Amino acid sequence: MPHATPPGGHTPTCAVYGVPGCTTTPGQRSAHPLSLHGHARELCSEDTDEEVVPATAHPWEKPLLALCATVSLAFALVLLRLVWSVSGSALWTALSLVSVPLVCWSARGLRYARERAESVRISPTQFPEAYRMVVSLSADMGLARTPEAYLRPGPVSARADAAAHGLRRYLVLPDALFDGDGRLPDPDALAFLIAHQVGHVAAGHTGYWRRVATVGADLVPGLGSALSRAAEYTADNHAHAHLPEGTHAVRLFAGGPHLYPRVNMGEMAARAHTDRGCSLLLYHLLTRRPSNTRRMAALRDRNRRGRVFI
Ligand SMILES: [Zn+2]
Repeated sequence: MPHATPPGGHTPTCAVYGVPGCTTTPGQRSAHPLSLHGHARELCSEDTDEEVVPATAHPWEKPLLALCATVSLAFALVLLRLVWSVSGSALWTALSLVSVPLVCWSARGLRYARERAESVRISPTQFPEAYRMVVSLSADMGLARTPEAYLRPGPVSARADAAAHGLRRYLVLPDALFDGDGRLPDPDALAFLIAHQVGHVAAGHTGYWRRVATVGADLVPGLGSALSRAAEYTADNHAHAHLPEGTHAVRLFAGGPHLYPRVNMGEMAARAHTDRGCSLLLYHLLTRRPSNTRRMAALRDRNRRGRVFI
């Protein structure tokens, strides 16, 4: 797709990287005239007109969400019945009814407060390249309000996050994606991880009432984690729909920021179909994030949905 400067001299902005001069839209990438680092790196290097693949929710997400909400409601009714039978007090029963939403609200508020108090906020003047990615991808995914973004030291797998409190949505990004000068060694990888987190927001995974409605499911081993895994696949679908060239970012979770270029994604993805064992199956059922092998398999073979269960 050729670049063109419209009448009036306005230079269009890259929908993904926020780089002036690129009219890149998902699935329609074109030769990028600029480089984020000043060296010969083309951010939008393919002059193709690929079909835009819409981001879809994982097929298990809605059924699991309904099941988790039902289980949570059942737990709530049992709790109310228990409190009523023990105390016989309408006041205590009412307090127990509002206690779970209040605890959820407080926990989310403290979590948000921690980021506001402790973390570096990504802004136009701090890590501006990452900031432009967040703004562009948020607009691209149809968010009415750009989420705040914070930088937190630590490993990639444990630090990337999307959350919310009240009307605020925010992302947490690991510092491992930046070099010592605050620049981006691998802009595609960072953009994919940002797109994944923005995808969580766009898909409604960070909503307060969703959390309240499913908190009881976490008491059932394997149920809450299954919903979480399905949501991860959904967020990956959003990221892949907007940045298919950044899927190699998942290698960061396996190899870390230094060794990930040497991780053979095809070999790891193949193990998702060949590795067997009871302990491995139990691990897959209990973990809240899809394993690296299964996630890579889902991103490499787009004809198959990510495996949530067996
Ligand atoms: Zn995620």
